[in-house]
Amino acid sequence: MESKVPSIKTELPGPEARKILALDQEFVSPSYTRDYPLVARRGLGASVEDVDGNVFLDFAAGIAVVSTGHCHPEVVRAIQSQAETLIHMSGTDFYYPLLAQLAQKLAEITPGKFPKRVVFGNSGAEAIEAAIKMARYHTRRNRLIAFLGCFHGRTLGALSLTASKAVQRRGFGPLLSGVTHLPYPNPYLCSAGHSAQECECDCTDFIERQLFRTAVPADEVAAIIVEPIQGEGGYIVPPAGFLGRLRQIADRHGILLIFDEVQCGMGRTGKMFACEHSGVVPDILVTAKGIASGLPLGVAVARADVMNWGPGAHASTFGGNPVACAAAMETIRLLQEKYVANAAHMGEYILGRLGDWPGRHPAVGQVRGRGLMIGIELVKSRQTCEPNPEARNKVIEEAFQKGLLILGCGESTLRLMPPLIIEQEHADTALEILEHCLSEVEQ
Ligand code: PLP
Repeated sequence: MESKVPSIKTELPGPEARKILALDQEFVSPSYTRDYPLVARRGLGASVEDVDGNVFLDFAAGIAVVSTGHCHPEVVRAIQSQAETLIHMSGTDFYYPLLAQLAQKLAEITPGKFPKRVVFGNSGAEAIEAAIKMARYHTRRNRLIAFLGCFHGRTLGALSLTASKAVQRRGFGPLLSGVTHLPYPNPYLCSAGHSAQECECDCTDFIERQLFRTAVPADEVAAIIVEPIQGEGGYIVPPAGFLGRLRQIADRHGILLIFDEVQCGMGRTGKMFACEHSGVVPDILVTAKGIASGLPLGVAVARADVMNWGPGAHASTFGGNPVACAAAMETIRLLQEKYVANAAHMGEYILGRLGDWPGRHPAVGQVRGRGLMIGIELVKSRQTCEPNPEARNKVIEEAFQKGLLILGCGESTLRLMPPLIIEQEHADTALEILEHCLSEVEQ
């Protein structure tokens, strides 16, 4: 692949891309949301080449999945070697070393110094399903508390918790009963109208002061489930005490606390798991996306005493497939060796450079994030903070035309979620392109 990144040689989409787009248009589910017509042929590190030979700088990472970059040579080697040895066995009915070894590794790297067990699936949603079932089974309670704006997946159980965009739920009801959604604390746009300083405790106070007294008996609640940093909902970093207060409420009422770290986990925020920034430990931690650098794998890691279901209660034919496990073992090794630290370092660098954008760019309301999970909120006016989805969408399209891959989240947020391997040069190029695009939409 060409070393100059980005390098755009054809109009976009190019002639080869247009052929694939026509095929896709005819045969692929129309439910997918493509912001722009990138047709990828290969990827390496933070670069993606399309089918016409155009090379893009990737700050989307397959939606926060290729944590070690595209086709990291050591991950590729691990996959190849495992594929030559044992591709499938089904951990539900047989044993193989990697399943147990990866479970041990995950128990080791997740927060909490207590015995843990791991259940394997193939995606974030599947791991969330396992967490829901486990919480109900263990507590023999059926209600769940989740948060507005959070995304937990699209299978019916996970979708019942998801409250990110109405289109994701419309037409699919009735969903699981017994799910109550509460506002997620957003210091920039507090749903109670509070300032950033005051946006501290209302969202959690409400649970005991009102919810448990009126509509939701606490002793029927199996679990509170939350994203430690909200992903699809807008890359929102909650106030410092939020997770700790949820932990206290859960403990007071015998409720399990589940952290969905599908997007914010696996080193993305500059620590292996985002909840480590707060020191709060969940009873069940769910992660997926970045865990295996692109191979399908989702896991729920639980306190051993919480995972007290017996044989036959839950399983998945492919979950924890040997090739995915091999990719995960190598990914975790690389993350621990250097890329979590790099995410912290590069995140600080990018956030530092973005620090004055809200002052310099009238369209930028706020810059927020941790590590390489960075959101840039676009607004119509800095005074009213009114979201500006049109400007956000234009910036994303323009960035694509200039060779930078980014995606949006929330109502009007640009999200930067590059592979955790990026270097300063990548960051400088991305920010230069982004600033150019912003200036264009601001005219
Ligand atoms: N949870 C979170 C926080 C996510 O961001 C996602 C996907 O974006 C999911 C769950 C669902 O994961 P998957 O798409 O692998 O089912």
